[in-house]
Amino acid sequence: MKIWNYGSINIDHVYRVPHLVQPGETLASTGYGRVLGGKGANQSIALARAGAVVTHIGRYHAGDLELLNPLFEAGVAGTGLQAVAQPGGHAMIQVDDRAENAIVLFPGANHSFSAGELPGLLAQTGVGDWLLLQNECSVTGPMIEAAFARGLQIAFNPAPMTGAVRELPLDKLSLLFVNQVEVLQLLGAGADQPPDPAWLASALRDWLPDTEVIVTLGAQGASRYYRGGVNQARAYPVPAVDTTGAGDTFTGFYLAARLAGQAPEACLRRACMAAALCVQRAGASASIPAAAEVDAFAASLLAGA
Ligand code: ADP
Repeated sequence: MKIWNYGSINIDHVYRVPHLVQPGETLASTGYGRVLGGKGANQSIALARAGAVVTHIGRYHAGDLELLNPLFEAGVAGTGLQAVAQPGGHAMIQVDDRAENAIVLFPGANHSFSAGELPGLLAQTGVGDWLLLQNECSVTGPMIEAAFARGLQIAFNPAPMTGAVRELPLDKLSLLFVNQVEVLQLLGAGADQPPDPAWLASALRDWLPDTEVIVTLGAQGASRYYRGGVNQARAYPVPAVDTTGAGDTFTGFYLAARLAGQAPEACLRRACMAAALCVQRAGASASIPAAAEVDAFAASLLAGA
């Protein structure tokens, strides 16, 4: 089964600085690197490393092509990519000696999509294919409508979360990936409300009766809610060094396992294992494991059981 990921492509410009630059200050950086980022690109890489067939639909600045190599090396198909002359999505990231950071994000080409272009972007998709999307590209709502009208199954990870997400046609989703904070925001519940599984199960059944909702719970693991039922998986107790990319890794491995026909609990476990490997490494796309590494982790768990 084919997956199309309508997703952001960002180039992260990472500057090492002794301290975060102050108003009016000019500060020399002690190090600089450029690396592919963006939730969309990360989730495509996670899907491909998990073994899924994925085509990325996105736009990048023409001069940045070589920085897209991690996508191609992972096996993501680039037929849905478009090079544009305007600035691409990028982030200017300062990281100081205490590992604090400050980020300026420019959406650039990720926000250049218009509703009229959507039929063209979806032209190669077929009934029953999946469309994955996040909240970093423009015309998210029209894309969900257009994909639904074409008979695609839709998976959505509404990150970064905004108030506008509640107004999207979420009833058209087959799968919704959210973290603990996001699900409470979507349900209009106070963030201090404990995410009690029984309460969530009934609230989600009433609100999105036909959508499988996956809630990631950080070091607590993840839960799946569908038609009032709940499946849960614990996170694996590992020494976490950097949780960047954990959610994207989880999404890619869950969706790949789900499309491979695995049972819900097996999908949750597989995604939690992949994310547990991710959090033990620094970086975002670079820390997403390959399927073989997750297999080896699963085997080591069995051997230790
Ligand atoms: P997000 O970064 O999108 O908010 P979460 O923080 O919920 O996502 O993390 C996604 C998944 O990563 C979790 O469901 C869990 O499986 C895994 N994970 C996150 N933090 C840890 C951790 N400290 N130890 C082990 N696994 C973790």
